[in-house]
Amino acid sequence: MTKPDPAELNAALQTIHPELLAMTRLFGLPDEYWNPPARYVMRAETLSDAYQITFSSDHLAAGRQIPIPCEEDPRLQSLHRRRAVRRLCKQTLYDLCRQITDIHPPWGSLTGVRPTHLMLEALAEGLSPEESVSRLVRDYDVLPPKAELLAEIAAIQRQLPAPGDSFMDVYIGIPFCTTRCAYCSFSSGEIGDGHLVTPYMDALEREIRACAPIIRQTGRSLRALYVGGGTPTALPLADFRRLLTLIREFFPSAREYTVEAGRPDTLSREKLRAIREAGISRISINPQTMNDRTLRVIGRAHTAEQVQEAYALAREEQIPHINMDVIAGLPGENEDDFRRTMAEAVRLHPESLTVHTLALKRSSRMSLENAPLPDGDMTARMVMDGLQTARKLGMSPYYLYRQKYMAGNLENTGYALPGHACLYNVDMMEETSHILALGAGGISKRIWPEEGHITRAPNVSNIGDYIARVEEMIRRKEELFETAGS
Ligand code: SF4
Repeated sequence: MTKPDPAELNAALQTIHPELLAMTRLFGLPDEYWNPPARYVMRAETLSDAYQITFSSDHLAAGRQIPIPCEEDPRLQSLHRRRAVRRLCKQTLYDLCRQITDIHPPWGSLTGVRPTHLMLEALAEGLSPEESVSRLVRDYDVLPPKAELLAEIAAIQRQLPAPGDSFMDVYIGIPFCTTRCAYCSFSSGEIGDGHLVTPYMDALEREIRACAPIIRQTGRSLRALYVGGGTPTALPLADFRRLLTLIREFFPSAREYTVEAGRPDTLSREKLRAIREAGISRISINPQTMNDRTLRVIGRAHTAEQVQEAYALAREEQIPHINMDVIAGLPGENEDDFRRTMAEAVRLHPESLTVHTLALKRSSRMSLENAPLPDGDMTARMVMDGLQTARKLGMSPYYLYRQKYMAGNLENTGYALPGHACLYNVDMMEETSHILALGAGGISKRIWPEEGHITRAPNVSNIGDYIARVEEMIRRKEELFETAGS
């Protein structure tokens, strides 16, 4: 073993502050605790064969030690030591915050977006599902029902057609909505008088024509295609048809096609027919809530009745798979309101249901207006109601992710009937497939399975910038996938 160098410990801790801040936020502790003079005092030491961290605040303290990792390969050793120090530091602060607040966060000390990764990792190491659940409970303090949910999700994901290096997914972003939801943090704009639609579609067509060949040039095949945004169905009919024609021409052979049709008031019989005729198998009609008062408060400009009409129309037009998104913890809602939404979900019987927890990112209107997050315990009961409703509908959970600033530090979970899990959602969340992302705000990803890392090429999110700089967006993807000049 190379002699432990205290400089290694300090280097590993240099950029950890944002993660520590995320940890204290998990317990609802104010960010000001970190302002000088900081209320937390950290001590980090390198012992002969262990790292030791202590955190103290006022009269409370927590301390932990771990053995210093040793590897033959110096590069691996340095990586593992760095990871171990950071994990130790976060875990120790977690212990202290639990003492201060007496709160047990549902996901324990996990602050990341993708907790399913840890479950899949444990299973890949050869642990049984039960042992994997125990590891998450023991090492990360995750509540057992949450760890069991991950085990169920991992089992479903392992039955799906395997992703991998030989596939690519395509994302197409349509950044227009009829109005802006109060909780929205996306960069999509209101469609307004529609003056940006034609220039946007021209730029998107240019990008599609230039980038679609990347899939073939890199020897890969198309796996799943997802049109999101924004609300793609907010496009006028002629532009929407133009989009579908481009998809059919340039991306003809995906295993799965999804078009977000989030707002029911953007759907018409003609658009639904165009969707079916283009071979799109899955759409998403998202009430978020079936309470008209809340729909008004969150700025969605449609009613619950319009959701029912849109579902009826989509059924008449024989759309094979409709997904429904709902949000637990919307402003002013209580458990009875959420129960009503769930009762409607049962009546409308979508093929998949995604239960989100309200998250207020910094750029949302609600966050800017300092709207508080709802009570965590109440939101947790709503999330549980969502799970029970999905089970009543015969669905199983198949993907899960978490976000910053979520009510009750809970999660978003996608449920689906057998055979209806959305591959694109799983690929996105588990980061198991290359993504070719087209349109404003799309982020293309290249996965490096051997090295275990990901490189990204983001498109600009501003609609005007995207239109003006589409050639640069094309070059970014050619560089990412190394196809320039081929
Ligand atoms: S529908 Fe989606 S993208 Fe559009 S404003 Fe609402 S949250 Fe944002």
